[in-house]
Amino acid sequence: MSNPQSIMEAELESIRDQVFSLPVRPAPAGATLEFSEDEVRILVLAPTGQDAALTTSFLTDAGFQSCACRTMYDLALKVEGGCAAIVVAEESLSTTSVEVLLKMLARQPSWSDIPIVLITSGGEMTQDSLRRLKVFGPGGNVTLLERPFRPMTLANTIEAALRARRRQYQVRDLLKERDTVLTSINDAFVTVDCQWRYTYVNEKAAELARMPREKMLGRNLWELFPQHIGSPVYNDLRRALAEQRIYHFEQFIENQNRWLDVRVYPSLRGLSILSADITERKEAEQLLEEQACQQQQLYQFVERLNRTESLNEVYDAALNTIQAALQSDRASILLFDQAGVMRFKAWRRLSDGYRQAIEGHSPWERGETDPLPLTIEDVQAAVLDEPLRRAIEEEGIRALAFIPLVYHGSLLGKFMIYYDEPHAFAPEELQLAQTIANQLAFGVERKRAQQELTRAKDRLASDLAGMTRLQNLSSRFVRQGDLQGLLEEIVDVAMVITGADKGNLQMCDSDSNALVLTAHRGFEQPFLDFFLRVDEDETFSACAAARASGERIVVEDVAQSPVFAGKPALDVLLAAGVRAVQSTPLFSRSGRLLGMLSTHFGVPHRPADRELRLLDVLARQAADFVERARADEALHEAQEEVRQHAEQLEKEVAARTAELSEMNSQLEAFVYSIAHDLRAPLRSMQAFSTILLDQYAPRLDHTAQDFARRIVRSAESMDALVLDLLAYGRVARAEMSLCTVDVQNTWNTALAQNEQIVQEKNALIETAVPLPRVIAHETMLGQVLANLLSNALKFTRPGVKPRIRFWGEPASDGLRLWIEDNGIGIAREHQDRIFRVFERLHGPAYAGTGIGLSIVRKGVERMGGQVGVESVPGKGSRFWVELPKG
Ligand code: ADP
Repeated sequence: MSNPQSIMEAELESIRDQVFSLPVRPAPAGATLEFSEDEVRILVLAPTGQDAALTTSFLTDAGFQSCACRTMYDLALKVEGGCAAIVVAEESLSTTSVEVLLKMLARQPSWSDIPIVLITSGGEMTQDSLRRLKVFGPGGNVTLLERPFRPMTLANTIEAALRARRRQYQVRDLLKERDTVLTSINDAFVTVDCQWRYTYVNEKAAELARMPREKMLGRNLWELFPQHIGSPVYNDLRRALAEQRIYHFEQFIENQNRWLDVRVYPSLRGLSILSADITERKEAEQLLEEQACQQQQLYQFVERLNRTESLNEVYDAALNTIQAALQSDRASILLFDQAGVMRFKAWRRLSDGYRQAIEGHSPWERGETDPLPLTIEDVQAAVLDEPLRRAIEEEGIRALAFIPLVYHGSLLGKFMIYYDEPHAFAPEELQLAQTIANQLAFGVERKRAQQELTRAKDRLASDLAGMTRLQNLSSRFVRQGDLQGLLEEIVDVAMVITGADKGNLQMCDSDSNALVLTAHRGFEQPFLDFFLRVDEDETFSACAAARASGERIVVEDVAQSPVFAGKPALDVLLAAGVRAVQSTPLFSRSGRLLGMLSTHFGVPHRPADRELRLLDVLARQAADFVERARADEALHEAQEEVRQHAEQLEKEVAARTAELSEMNSQLEAFVYSIAHDLRAPLRSMQAFSTILLDQYAPRLDHTAQDFARRIVRSAESMDALVLDLLAYGRVARAEMSLCTVDVQNTWNTALAQNEQIVQEKNALIETAVPLPRVIAHETMLGQVLANLLSNALKFTRPGVKPRIRFWGEPASDGLRLWIEDNGIGIAREHQDRIFRVFERLHGPAYAGTGIGLSIVRKGVERMGGQVGVESVPGKGSRFWVELPKG
């Protein structure tokens, strides 16, 4: 045995370590540290009663409790009752008695190491005495006291033994306390030594290890639990021992489904391992975590629902949440359709075949008020319709749950969760599923309501667009324009109103009653060719049917309608992508069919009533418009005819005029040439008559001379006439370039030419200065003014002093020059005539040829101007000449 002192110190230290931080019950009230009488007594065994009596009385005198034992058996019995030390005389240690003693000592608890005082006989050690001493072994707590000894020595020896024994009692108490503590705690506690052998195992630890304590004590930890070798726990324990560091970790015991909180306290003697079962706490934590996670998922789901733009996004968010929160392998969402059939809306990991087989199946009726979730924990064990079971099994589904989607008490549909393995549905799972279902149902209903709102808004917007187009169309009708463009616009508006993909307008031919395709949108050539003309006897189309019935026809699905059944028109329509059509007849106010307005749809469809009502408004407007457009057209045609007629007439007149003016100019040319040719014989007549008068006068009587003179005068008069005609011809034919002419100069020239007659007649000439400038041919203007001045001076009233005024004034198109006289005047009815050739109003009293004013008019006209006269007979005349301003 090792030094008892050091064993005790180490034991104390270890015990302190082990109980460190353990929950310790307080010591019971009244507990005492005093030892019992038996515990402090000293047992004495001596071969002779005297020896024993002497020793005990000595010990008693010295203040020790002592008790003499008669035999080794007696001693052994008393040791059982408790003792502080044993005093044995060497002689008492016979072979048999030593065995008794040793057995007795071996039965002592581990803390007990009873001090033995062996009184030897002294002197040389006999073989026998040596053997007896050795029986206690090298570590035996034996003190030899050799006879003879002094009583004091015995007392000191006993004192020392008692001190040692008291320490042992302390250890005992501590151990007891430790055991009390360790037994009282709920946690598992074990100690192992440095060789990993269990040195202590409390009940809880044995229970945890599922092994009796006795089987564990002394056994190697890793031999008992080889499965942990190499695990993190294994490594931690080894490090705790090697590094003498406290370790604290949590460990999951898989086969027991338990969580342990393990604290490892190292000491030089081994490890103390305290394992608290924290499974409940862990489970609670896990549950909390799961609930938090589920809450989070629900929160995210609700949040996503708020942000979704479409129903599909709602389904998608729901499926994500269902799969994440319920850990299902698959999931799906089904909703009742209008006909009350449960239809798949969204799904995860479900085959087409499965969905087809299952669609329509529902555990609840549509109107069911309080549907509860249904679960099938194992398809193989469940009672199911055979085809249903087969479909589910073929899909590889082993467990499933039907969660109803209820909104405000009405069942919308369900969502399904599926597991590939049998699955027990915990109440919390179903609760969670129902929470998700409530959110989903709310999300679906809200999205549907939103969509309905959007649809209503769209409808309103499209109605508004239709009305606006109608309005615009009406204003176009009022303004009118090209007929074709307006007909196309009518088709466009009809398409907008009915939300159609295509459309056309046929006009009714009033003679044949055939519908002729006039405007169209969205059609290809084959359709246009086929429906170009729908004769009266045709019955194969919607428009023909509408014509026959006199009412609108709506064909919701051309493929199903008897209107087209077996008719070639059906193929044409289908090829053109038409699945639905409406044809609305256009009637005149008098009830005559004017045309047909049709719109076409790519899918089976029936326009809404409000759309058809708007279409009626359009049809009425369009019919009115067509009727009016036709009337306008007829009017327009008549106007055109008149216009063409007038144009023709104008052309004819122009041709005639040209012909006439050609003839005129030819005539003028003819007159000019005749006039020219006339002068030669005239000159001969003049010459010969003059010769007659000059040279043959004596031979001629008075009458002959008078005749000769008359011939001369006539010839002169004729020549004047011919000269005037030639002058007129020149005016009519001469080249004439115009420029700015100073009227003052020209007037002065005209005055100069007529100066003689002015003086003769003592005429008064008044000229308003300054005179303007005009665009004219200077010589021609001079001739014009000279002729007018000459006439003013000629056609004077007898006895009236001629008074002539000349001035210019602005006129609408240029300038007017006026020559006013106070002569004889011209009657109104003759005022036009006088400008023609040879026209003269007055007889021989006023000389003249009747050509002067003709020259004036011709000359002014050739200068781009006009001429006229205002006159009052007997008072005077005012001639005017209008020319462009210079
Ligand atoms: P003529 O002067 O040679 O007769 P014109 O052609 O100059 O021919 O005039 C035609 C006619 O117009 C005149 O014969 C005359 O009767 C009338 N006439 C022209 N100028 C005047 C005038 N200033 N006052 C009145 N009658 C006029």
